[in-house]
Amino acid sequence: MSIDLPVTSITSIGQVAEKELRKLGISTIRDLIFYYPYRFEDFTVRCAIGDLKAHSTVTIQGTVKLLENRRSWRTKRIVTEALISDETGSVKALWFNQPFIVKNIAIGDVVSLSGRTSDNYYDLQLVSPMYEKIIPGREPVHTGRLVPVYSLTAKLHQKQFRNFIKRALLACAESLVDHLPANILAQEKLLPLPRALEAIHTPSEETEANMAKRRFAFDELFLLQLCNLVTRKNIARHPARSIEFHKKETNDFVSSLPFVLTKSQKQAAWEILRDMEKASPMNRLLEGDVGSGKTVVAALAILNAARSGYQCALMAPTEILAHQHFKTLASLFQKTPFRIALCASSNFQSWDHASGFTRYATKKERSILFEHIRSGQADVVIGTHALLEEKVRFENLAIAVIDEQHRFGVEQRKALCDKNADGTMPHLLSMTATPIPRSLALTVYGDLDLTLIQGTPHGRKRIITKIVPQEYREWVYDFIKKEIVRGYQAFIICPLIDPSDVLGVRSVTQEAKRLREGELSSVRLGILHGKMKSNEKEAVMRGVASGEIDVLLSTSVVEVGIDIPRATVVLIEGAERFGLAQLHQFRGRVGRSSRQSYCFLLPTESTKEDRARLKAVVASHDGFALAEKDLMLRGEGDVFGERQSGMSRLAFSSITDAELVKKTRLYAEHYLPRLGEFPNLNKRVEILQRYSHLE
Ligand code: ADP
Ligand code: MG
Repeated sequence: MSIDLPVTSITSIGQVAEKELRKLGISTIRDLIFYYPYRFEDFTVRCAIGDLKAHSTVTIQGTVKLLENRRSWRTKRIVTEALISDETGSVKALWFNQPFIVKNIAIGDVVSLSGRTSDNYYDLQLVSPMYEKIIPGREPVHTGRLVPVYSLTAKLHQKQFRNFIKRALLACAESLVDHLPANILAQEKLLPLPRALEAIHTPSEETEANMAKRRFAFDELFLLQLCNLVTRKNIARHPARSIEFHKKETNDFVSSLPFVLTKSQKQAAWEILRDMEKASPMNRLLEGDVGSGKTVVAALAILNAARSGYQCALMAPTEILAHQHFKTLASLFQKTPFRIALCASSNFQSWDHASGFTRYATKKERSILFEHIRSGQADVVIGTHALLEEKVRFENLAIAVIDEQHRFGVEQRKALCDKNADGTMPHLLSMTATPIPRSLALTVYGDLDLTLIQGTPHGRKRIITKIVPQEYREWVYDFIKKEIVRGYQAFIICPLIDPSDVLGVRSVTQEAKRLREGELSSVRLGILHGKMKSNEKEAVMRGVASGEIDVLLSTSVVEVGIDIPRATVVLIEGAERFGLAQLHQFRGRVGRSSRQSYCFLLPTESTKEDRARLKAVVASHDGFALAEKDLMLRGEGDVFGERQSGMSRLAFSSITDAELVKKTRLYAEHYLPRLGEFPNLNKRVEILQRYSHLE
């Protein structure tokens, strides 16, 4: 059976399971067999029932002597009780809310149970063990061995999923070909793919699982880097506009700024402008700490492209940020003849020197704005992902700047090219939200050239960061109130209350109610969460920018990159729940003027490790270093977020594994020009690239 068939070609997978699997990103057999377990349960220790001790993880085998469902009088749950015996003794097993167990096993069956023992008033018992009937001549799947545990949706069961995998592996055993060249397998002594997949999903012992992990760790870093190199090569093949450097206009612009550019900003702008002079597309990442002044560097690139008569796009992840960029650029480009347009889902505006700001409220009016973009009259177009929509077309888009995103998907880039009437590929400048050191960036962003802004503008004071125990909560509120009296503002960040509150509605509204009735009743409090409509969000942000709102209470999901110079305090609730890079981002919301700013970390329940992590944020103000530390502690999936799908694919390897990174990069460079000779490898790369776009 071909591994590219849909999962439903496996007999036991019906429509219900198909739907659940799709939520995990699994639609083909290929997706299924490459869905790795995230840990193993070690059920290899076997024990005679008479030798059982409390609080140990074991496997027993015995005959079912008693089996019944009853309802617990205290908790009202259905409890399934069984008595299992072997020649050395008997033991009780309990399961909760799984009444169907009595249909799967019966009195007299010989079963294998794996789980943890506990003692209940001198009486040993097994609580919620894995169970399966022993069938002579068949290996157990769920007990008595290393059992893989997968991250699943609530409606899928581990047992069921293991069976799916088992069937999938059987079904495609013959069509499964290794994408790694035989040479690599031999040189690196790696398990071939079919054996590695067997070993990762059904390892017979730890060493086997480890060998599989080693193979996949190699695989991941090799493919990640190879994909990056392929992307780089593909992009370089396209023609792009060569953008002339306009010396005079650039100098005039720089001297019109209300501040002096730092040396590092100038250097960064220089690298970018040099790259844009080439007739092949720039593909560059601008990395700088939060508050390092990346926007103005991007503005220099935009200035030169627009001055050459081309169009520029600036894309931000949220509408609020897009609006902020629109205002910033309208002000920076005050003296230029450029027309600037904003296209965010509910906010359509334009600005130019002659007619100032114009709003496009109705559908009909908006079509005028789209026409300006299509005909090239709009020089700079700012927006959200809405810019990628069908109706937006450009006359001659020469550069796209992507803010707060590490990587722009291959597909998205293609979409941008297709929008361009002149058929060229725009230069691309990404500006990252999580800066990481150059050595690590080479792997993650191997398809991009790198420009780093070191440090932050002079004259900024270090943000005083403190871990505040709950008892001092009052004190923090008093502190905030004092700052407000002096004319400054504050942010309060709330963590999500529970996993179901994905948009943070509950956490923010509950906290706002508490504060308005209590400690902060005297201040003007605004709230921001993921459920609000974009015009509501925008109204709140306008209130913050104009000073009508003193304190903004917001979820973590809502904002990166907003720039409110009068904000001097940020209070982070439940600080232990956030990663270091994220805490540093929040802290970067303040300290944007010459006024002393403060960041208070208020942990709720913190372990010793949590406090050590928070201390790292207190001690270090270097976003690059904090992100690196975060990577070591939490891994790339958490640091970059699931959306950066390239990263969340690293299940067994880490970009911090310098040795493996280096080795796999050499291999990737070696095989890049030979991909044509290795069709399996080539195909794997193509598939991964298709997945590499953002959602
Ligand atoms: P980020 O790199 O986080 O995107 P921004 O571009 O938003 O940072 O810049 C942060 C603030 O610093 C803005 O208010 C900007 O006007 C200001 N700024 C940028 N460059 C300088 C500089 N060289 N000197 C002083 N202030 C600057
Ligand atoms: Mg920014």
